[in-house]
Amino acid sequence: MTKDWKTRTQLVHEGSRRSQYGEMAEAIFLTQGFVYPTAEAAEARFVKASEDEFIYARYGNPTTRMFEERIAALEGTEDAFATASGMAAVSGALMSCLRAGDHVVSSRALFGSCLYVLEDVLQKFGVRVTFVDGADLDQWRKAVTPGTKAVFFESMSNPTLELVDIRSVSEIAHAVGALVICDNVFATPIFSRAVEQGADVVVYSTTKHIDGQGRALGGVVCGTKEFIRKTLEPFMKHTGGSMSPFTAWIMLNGMATLDLRCRAMADTALTLARALADHPNLSRVIYPGLASHPQHDLALAQMGSGGTLVTFDVKGGKEAAFRFMNALATRTSDLHKRLRTSWASRRA
Ligand SMILES: *Cc1c(COP(=O)(O)O)cnc(C)c1O
Repeated sequence: MTKDWKTRTQLVHEGSRRSQYGEMAEAIFLTQGFVYPTAEAAEARFVKASEDEFIYARYGNPTTRMFEERIAALEGTEDAFATASGMAAVSGALMSCLRAGDHVVSSRALFGSCLYVLEDVLQKFGVRVTFVDGADLDQWRKAVTPGTKAVFFESMSNPTLELVDIRSVSEIAHAVGALVICDNVFATPIFSRAVEQGADVVVYSTTKHIDGQGRALGGVVCGTKEFIRKTLEPFMKHTGGSMSPFTAWIMLNGMATLDLRCRAMADTALTLARALADHPNLSRVIYPGLASHPQHDLALAQMGSGGTLVTFDVKGGKEAAFRFMNALATRTSDLHKRLRTSWASRRA
């Protein structure tokens, strides 16, 4: 149950389950299965498991469950299902609720793997997909028709930071009974309350901000109990894209500092974007927190922030861009060389 906790408290404590040992930190239940006192108890659990009963880690696990409850509370949804990667969350959310003959409308500005799922996988199984310019509400209005089953978008998009007006697109979709699936990875659950603005299902790659420290792949789908347990869970648990308990433990620990990190990153991003905005060697700086960004007002209204990422184009095309990146890499290899030397001298 939602307590009167502030976000930062929720991020540390929500969903915690303690074993009989009363451990302070979340335990990692590295077990794939669970034992039953009797065959009858096993049968009963398969028919209907209670809150504290688990069957098999692909179906659920105490550590994974803690993570699901924590993120659902943060997101403000009834439930969540943790997945092996962000792409397992995106493909699971779409595949679990669609069938051949269905129609989906999606924004065109998508992360490459999301585009593959919508453009190749769904269409291969007979789902029709219409792509629109996600920022253009007229295109959404035209594309969404009474037969549309779901709409999908990233807000903001990876990597061009395009926003979708979640409230308006949700109204357009709901008018024909279509499900609104929002990939909220770049906006983060700290800045974007996609569900409050009308989204029905929110997906994350937890690989990004939620782990935040580059340690593990993961994903999660947030939504109503009905969608998560009746539509998504059967698909995920039988097709194998569930999150491992060890990963869930990493994500639980990542969440503890999520609010602090995202706010610090957004401050740095704004400082960087301002410093780079008029740089003579850049042809374009994209940051929704800059007043010059075409969706600046929407970003502030929807996220209260420009977000944690800055994108820019280096003048001079690929050659100049590579020169810029390799100049960064050179410093990295210098560092590697220094580290190797110091390890070698320590061994000697
Ligand atoms: C990274 C990313 C994904 C995929 O997540 P993985 O954890 O790498 O599978 C999906 N959508 C967006 C917007 C992303 O940035």
